[in-house]
Amino acid sequence: MKISIRQKFTVFMILLLIFNLFIISTLILRGIKDNQRLSYESFLKDNSKTANLLIREKFYLSKYTNFEYFYKDKAKELSIELVRVLDLDTILYDKEGNLIGSGRISNDKEDYTEMITKALDNNIVYQRIGDIIVYVAPVYDFNHQIGVLKIEYSIKKERKFYEDIVKLFIQVGIVSVIIAFLVASFYFWFFVKKIVQLKESVKSVANGDYHAVSIINTKDELGELSKGIFVMSNKIEDNIEEISVEKSKLQDALKKLQKLEKKQKEFIGNITHEFRTPITVIKAQLDLITLYDDDEEMVDRSKKVAEKELKRLDNMIGNILYLSSIEKYDFELKKEKIDSKVFLREIIERMSGKASKFGIEIIHDMTSAEIYIDKDSFIQISINLIDNAIKYNKNNGKIFIRSYIKDEKNVIEIEDTGIGIPDEHKSRIFDPFYTVDKNRAKNFSGTGLGLSLVYKLLKKQNSNIKVTDSNGGTIFQISIPLYK
Ligand code: ATP
Ligand code: MG
Repeated sequence: MKISIRQKFTVFMILLLIFNLFIISTLILRGIKDNQRLSYESFLKDNSKTANLLIREKFYLSKYTNFEYFYKDKAKELSIELVRVLDLDTILYDKEGNLIGSGRISNDKEDYTEMITKALDNNIVYQRIGDIIVYVAPVYDFNHQIGVLKIEYSIKKERKFYEDIVKLFIQVGIVSVIIAFLVASFYFWFFVKKIVQLKESVKSVANGDYHAVSIINTKDELGELSKGIFVMSNKIEDNIEEISVEKSKLQDALKKLQKLEKKQKEFIGNITHEFRTPITVIKAQLDLITLYDDDEEMVDRSKKVAEKELKRLDNMIGNILYLSSIEKYDFELKKEKIDSKVFLREIIERMSGKASKFGIEIIHDMTSAEIYIDKDSFIQISINLIDNAIKYNKNNGKIFIRSYIKDEKNVIEIEDTGIGIPDEHKSRIFDPFYTVDKNRAKNFSGTGLGLSLVYKLLKKQNSNIKVTDSNGGTIFQISIPLYK
């Protein structure tokens, strides 16, 4: 069974209160009792003195000469007089303990012999019998004890007073326990409510709801505790947020790493594949040469094929090394100010020989533009794009080269009237080794490295490349920032 702190506190308070009431009432009641005893003791002592004085006075006023004789003789009258003066039942005894005078009509049922005997030995003795105090004291002449007097005093009033006080204590006790119970219950309810509030706050923090912490605005430990929980929950929230940010960063990095790993695997797979083809061809040609070494024509043809494949292999190795050096190391590009028109014109001249082999005409329209770029990479980019425009053109086709300035950039367009690139391949032609169709190119099939080199070199120098269609052919558009 669960006992709440409210119940525990209340019960503890009540027990403490009852204990206090018990101690206080016990001490007060004992005080009252002692006080009552002292007051009736002195009252009876005074009365016994008064009785002795009265007896002496009566002796002086009488004709008697012997005190003891007077006392015995007049005992009856003396006791009546004493009852009248003292307003107490008074009985007189002689030296032998015989009752010689009583101011009361009724007879005593109690036996006071023992008390009388003690009193005859010059002692004051008293005893409580029910509500009556029986007080026995000596009676003297001028020098000696001549008898004993017994006074009876009723303490009914004192007893009643004492009992009333006890009753009052019980009533006050019950009422104060009830009031204390109600007040304590309410007060502890108030406290426990706050503690429950704190408990709920801690619970919500544990469940990840950091804004459900309620602050208790009291200047005590509970107030401080609630503020502490509030600060703690904020810190936890911040930490968790930080952790989740870090986690997502890590996840992103991991994804990138996985992507990179996949790309690298693909790259290596492609390299292996691309290398094997020319090597197989060269090996086959060497076999042919060995087998038919007397057939001059065959040997000649095989040599040419092998040479072509070797050249292709050499090209490919050069490109791969260049590509991976751009990717792996922060490749040193020596940017400088050049006029793109001057370089383009030179490149066109260089390429026009190859173009004319296929009856392809290069038409250009170029403006002078000062760009800020690595000279060698600009040449490489231009050659690759013009080379593609020749390779994937139709016989007797055309190539249009335009260069102009737009939005602080030098835009260069290389348009061909060739076979075009289907839309679904456009996004992938910049990937290494990606080729649309091996059989589409003229005699020389490419390795698919040219455009990826172009793309990487441009990106490294804040430049862009776009590919669009032109009535069946293709337009490659590059834009390079102007020199400022
Ligand atoms: P490499 O340039 O390494 O000798 P490649 O020319 O095949 O070989 P990229 O220059 O990267 O490789 O071109 C990728 C592919 O994009 C080509 O194989 C070709 O299919 C296609 N392509 C590129 N330029 C054109 C173009 N002007 N017209 C049509 N298709 C093109
Ligand atoms: Mg190419």
